[in-house]
Amino acid sequence: MIIIMLGAQGTGKGTVAGLLSNELNIPQISTGDIFRKNIKEETKLGIEANKYISKGQLVPDDITVPMVSDVLDSDETKNGAILDGFPRTIEQAEKLDEILNKHNKKVDLVINLVTPRDEIITRITNRRVCSNQHCKATYNLILNPPSKEGICDKCGSKIVQREDDMDEQSIKNRLEIYDKQTSPLVEYYNEKGILRTEEISERINRLGKEVADDILKDIKN
Ligand code: ADP
Ligand code: ZN
Repeated sequence: MIIIMLGAQGTGKGTVAGLLSNELNIPQISTGDIFRKNIKEETKLGIEANKYISKGQLVPDDITVPMVSDVLDSDETKNGAILDGFPRTIEQAEKLDEILNKHNKKVDLVINLVTPRDEIITRITNRRVCSNQHCKATYNLILNPPSKEGICDKCGSKIVQREDDMDEQSIKNRLEIYDKQTSPLVEYYNEKGILRTEEISERINRLGKEVADDILKDIKN
């Protein structure tokens, strides 16, 4: 099963993807996480990608698409994948269809998370991540704080703020790119009849857990 997570920054794509991944036993493939791992390890791909990521710009397709293609061609994803952060443009969506076609696969479900913009900004500024690349747990200082300040509940490593989340201009750029380049994907997948839109917001008391539970109920039925 191939699932795509759509939605602006800070809506909770990573959280919902993680919950679905655990329950369905299919890997969560986050392009942002793969980039950050490469940046930390100072690989060629990481150094190149960071030129864009540090400014809040999209990494060009000639870097991003082969990277995703490699993962989708690998054994790791032979039973499916939950794509978190890819595709982000219509072009990437078309490339994805080509890659999946090779393996006689297709996108089965697209989950579109929608959150009011003011909530999004607070969420991004309060977002923290585990510094351990194998753990990658995410926290929110208000909604979902770690039980011990600064320490990951799951693995005991230090919790940090992503560099691109510290920079107001980067947050603004990323949301602008979402509106211009990524949000057209909502219609693209809606036309294919595989879109599921979910409101995820404190205001209606509906967060990642509730959304993931409802989706799982439907998938398992
Ligand atoms: P966010 O959704 O908050 O921007 P991500 O962790 O998904 O965070 O991505 C971090 C950065 O990695 C993005 O700002 C972008 O520079 C780059 N990136 C991730 N996925 C893609 C993609 N599909 N295409 C191009 N760049 C990407
Ligand atoms: Zn951890």
